[in-house]
Amino acid sequence: MISIRKYFRIIFIVLILFLFCFPQTAFLQITSVEYICVGTDYETPVYIIRTDSKEPTIMIVAGTHGNEKAGIKAAEYLKDNIKIEKGTLIIIPEANILACEKAVRNFPQDINLNRIYPGNPQGNSIEKLASKIFNLMKKYDINLLVDLHESIEFYKKNPKNYGQTVVIDSDDDCLFELSSFFVEEMNKGIKEDSNKYQVLVDPVKGSTAYSAYYQLGIPALTFETCRKLPLSFRIGEQIKFVKIILSKWNMLAVQR
Ligand SMILES: [Zn+2]
Repeated sequence: MISIRKYFRIIFIVLILFLFCFPQTAFLQITSVEYICVGTDYETPVYIIRTDSKEPTIMIVAGTHGNEKAGIKAAEYLKDNIKIEKGTLIIIPEANILACEKAVRNFPQDINLNRIYPGNPQGNSIEKLASKIFNLMKKYDINLLVDLHESIEFYKKNPKNYGQTVVIDSDDDCLFELSSFFVEEMNKGIKEDSNKYQVLVDPVKGSTAYSAYYQLGIPALTFETCRKLPLSFRIGEQIKFVKIILSKWNMLAVQR
């Protein structure tokens, strides 16, 4: 007959072995979804990934332009697969969902969502959409906005296009240092000079990032890959960029 003492000793040893074999594989994050522009053609999901600690709160926006697929695919991948152990991550994979479904830059064609922020709750569909996204930034009191884009050409080949850049809307020292750090990290794995990223200071009035920075005081970055590169590579780069940011704020869960 096994004594109670022995019985507890066995349980204790099994427990220690269990903890040793499976150290912290479960991450305590909860993903919820809410919708903006509910009941309209522009109704689109917003994924909120929460942990025990609210801060920092980072918002990732993709699909502002529907034909910039890498950011959209990366955001979709991240909302399903990213593991964080700190802070809050908000992801909008298809900001202009109709443009994304039709794979066009803007829908309607003549209204650019990235030029009409902070939007207008009484305006047209796209102005209403911008206003909803702008309100989300305020509602969640975000610490950083990351807007994922793509360009048709390398900035180095034609400076009218922003391919392979991190664009900031102000030469604010902190923002410049931060984006320079991200560019340096991104460039570590890139051999070809044309594919290397650079920081670009270019205030684009009415853009998501401009509005976040100038109207809400939120640091904001616009990330641009070049569509001349293969799609799978660009998706990987967009995912990598977000992960570098999350690492910088110690949000990324370390797979043990
Ligand atoms: Zn774009």
